[in-house]
Amino acid sequence: MSKTIVIVLDGLRYDVMVSSMGYLNHLVEKERAAFYKVESELPSLSRPLYEVLLTGTPCFVNGITSNQVVRLSRQQSVFHLASKAGLKTAAAAYYWVSELYQKAPFDYFADRIQHDETYPIQHGMFYFEDSYPDSHLLADGEYLRRVYDPDFLYIHPMNIDDTGHKFTADSAAYRGQALKMDSMLALLIPQWIEEGYHILVTSDHGMNEDGQHGGTGEGERNVGLLAIGSRFTPGRYTDESLPQLALASLMCNLLDISPSADMANIPVPGYTGLRNLP
Ligand SMILES: [Zn+2]
Repeated sequence: MSKTIVIVLDGLRYDVMVSSMGYLNHLVEKERAAFYKVESELPSLSRPLYEVLLTGTPCFVNGITSNQVVRLSRQQSVFHLASKAGLKTAAAAYYWVSELYQKAPFDYFADRIQHDETYPIQHGMFYFEDSYPDSHLLADGEYLRRVYDPDFLYIHPMNIDDTGHKFTADSAAYRGQALKMDSMLALLIPQWIEEGYHILVTSDHGMNEDGQHGGTGEGERNVGLLAIGSRFTPGRYTDESLPQLALASLMCNLLDISPSADMANIPVPGYTGLRNLP
């Protein structure tokens, strides 16, 4: 098992990940990473897709059909499975992630920082302003990594999505926010590579030219997946889209734990897992 870091850049569409993230694309160009085009599940909304990413189930199964469904997940998420397998879990994420896997509804004052090894997310730092700076959120995630040494670390910044809603996807501000994120990741990822982590960088959904997402448009649905680590054969796997439902079982496989019975089991090209999923 390699320790795994999953970064979900909220609201980053595929073409802007390709055009505005020079460091991430450098890793692909120099054959240090595999790169995929992922088609998000529907609806292309945040809370439903957090649940898709972490449980590998579509919303007609998991019931998280809208951003307004505020309740705990009824599925076994990667956090649940990892924690039950004796692995250490941590997350620096938007408060909806706490509402899905920790407790709901979120209490701003009691739930912002959570340390409890009986919960699926054993060490959590959760924010509740969409403008909470990505720089601070990445620093929160790195703090959790350095202090608690989690096997599974989930990092989820919101500023790209927030900027897309304010200025649309076709704006200097939106592309600039992606550039800024790329520069910040360039400060962290080299160290993580050196320490042998598996790293996934992806998004829940994209953003359209109206500053919205939720529908079926390409800009809303298509997101990227950058995968780093010894089990991935570097290269571009972008001719066909990878279904987003594949991500949860991929995370389980990286952690050498069995996926839940309900998780989609979809092969990921270029991935040479050390063992087959049941
Ligand atoms: Zn959004």
